[in-house]
Amino acid sequence: MMTKINQTSLVLIRGDITREQVDAIANAANERLMGGGGVDGAIHRAGGPAIAAECSAIRAKQGGCPTGQAVITTGGNLPAKHVIHTVGPIWRGGTAGEAELLASCYRESLRLAVEHGIKTIAFPSISTGVYGYPVAQAAVIALNAIRQFLKAHDGLDEVRFVLFDDATYGAYENALLDMGV
Ligand code: ADP
Repeated sequence: MMTKINQTSLVLIRGDITREQVDAIANAANERLMGGGGVDGAIHRAGGPAIAAECSAIRAKQGGCPTGQAVITTGGNLPAKHVIHTVGPIWRGGTAGEAELLASCYRESLRLAVEHGIKTIAFPSISTGVYGYPVAQAAVIALNAIRQFLKAHDGLDEVRFVLFDDATYGAYENALLDMGV
């Protein structure tokens, strides 16, 4: 599924983000940038130790990455040149600022991408795995945050969601259809 927001294509596909041929992929990281399970583990495995080495340098310099923020490293052995690590909120029932923090992940990742001259970026569904964010709600927040950003900023050719399973893909598809874009 695909739509266009200003000059940027917004694309939803099913797949494994580690295989995407884009300038940058986003990672659903943790605050310590330590590499964990889920998509984080898959990215570190596929990209090799160069990614963890840069994460470790960022940790030494600034302690890690707070929830809602993003940092950039090499893509190591990945087809993508860069990884943008962003830390989604852990779901605590919805009244702990989760929605704003999740929107911030997408905004900050896109801001870093534009700053680095990145033209194509792929996102996984941040926070909806181990962090427990209900995917239907997360999809609406993610797509709205991206739409708002793209309405205000030029420079990106494509933003691609690479969704790992049918249920997640379906949730993003429904959210995009409901947005009427
Ligand atoms: P979080 O801790 O932010 O919840 P997870 O990695 O647990 O992050 O899950 C986020 C989403 O990433 C889930 O929908 C999960 O199915 C998906 N995912 C896991 N591996 C991959 C992959 N290789 N490519 C794309 N998405 C993936």
